[in-house]
Amino acid sequence: MHHKRAAALKSMRHEITSQLASRFRSLVVTDLRRLLASAQSDEPSLGVDDFLKQLSYKMQWRGGELNFAHTPELLYGCSQCGGSQTSIRGSSEGLRCNACGFESPLEANVAQNLIKLLERSELAEHVKA
Ligand SMILES: [Zn+2]
Repeated sequence: MHHKRAAALKSMRHEITSQLASRFRSLVVTDLRRLLASAQSDEPSLGVDDFLKQLSYKMQWRGGELNFAHTPELLYGCSQCGGSQTSIRGSSEGLRCNACGFESPLEANVAQNLIKLLERSELAEHVKA
């Protein structure tokens, strides 16, 4: 049973990384587990490291690139007001901004911050392609 599940995950990982690498020339990823290392994280890894390694390899092989963004502001910055007065209430409960009252799941806030980061940088044009 365990073996079957591992094989299914491996096959899914292969399929997803292949599709991403064939569709995009440039990707930016962030790893919530790394951002949360200073907070707490009980997320199971589900082979994220292998996934990223495989994706990076396939992107390079096709002449693309995989970029990693791990700045703390992605996690601690409020995606609504840009403030940094946020409280993280555990990885499952999300984030609350003490400045504007904005509440959001962590992943959604990080994704919004990532988009803003990209809009400000030259990476944006590659990502939109
Ligand atoms: Zn705010």
